Amino acid sequence: MKILVTNDDGILSEGLWTLVKELKEIARVTVVAPDREQSAVGTAVTLRQPIRAQKVKPAIPGVETYAVEGTPSDSVILALGKLVTGKVDLVISGINHGMNLGEDVHISGTVGAALQGYLRGFTSLAISAAYGNRQSRDIAARVAVILAKKITTDSLPAGIFLNVNLPDLPLAKIGGVRITRLASGSHINTVEEGNDGRQDYYWLVRQRADGAAERETDIWAVEQGDISITPLYLKRSGKLSLAILNNMCSDILKELRKQQ
Ligand code: MN
Repeated sequence: MKILVTNDDGILSEGLWTLVKELKEIARVTVVAPDREQSAVGTAVTLRQPIRAQKVKPAIPGVETYAVEGTPSDSVILALGKLVTGKVDLVISGINHGMNLGEDVHISGTVGAALQGYLRGFTSLAISAAYGNRQSRDIAARVAVILAKKITTDSLPAGIFLNVNLPDLPLAKIGGVRITRLASGSHINTVEEGNDGRQDYYWLVRQRADGAAERETDIWAVEQGDISITPLYLKRSGKLSLAILNNMCSDILKELRKQQ
């Protein structure tokens, strides 16, 4: 199995290497990721200047790794168009530091990168965990492995695009795994004003969810203490039924508990 890993937190991000460490056990992994943090750049693509990529020393030995002077989307386009040879089975973007929920997925660089994989016909996952929670990142990496196995053993149809979010909880307290839809609204809804001693500035601030999310949405699920899996762009994956997805969810939980 061959997996392309990218992210929007940059090549040095702990979340990225937590993911690679687990995936390396089941697949050949190539990392192509931005050389610096690019969170919230969404689907941005660099068209008006050249893009440079450098093969760099991986944090985990034996993993072919490229640092891209560009956006997360640039990284995936470059990887699939040039840098990675042979058949890629799966594109995974993450593990993002901080959840990507609701309509904010449209500005997420993590989701933006996975979108480029999906648009090129590859099964793609965007995976995000609670900010600053190492345990949550570890569980996220294990969920990635479980999903990767399912996708490559044909129990899931090819060409799907899933947005996965882990709640801010230890495994013992995670209640379940749920298929969700995107909650409406953006969390980046506050503009703070200040003065740096020279001039006034504005700062766009992310607010936490207020507990008013609709049932069955991604925000609701993580507030409940569940792992949320939102299928994005379902149209292309005609065979993907709710039954398949729900089976997938109960299998993930069983596997996680088994390994506990
Ligand atoms: Mn990020």
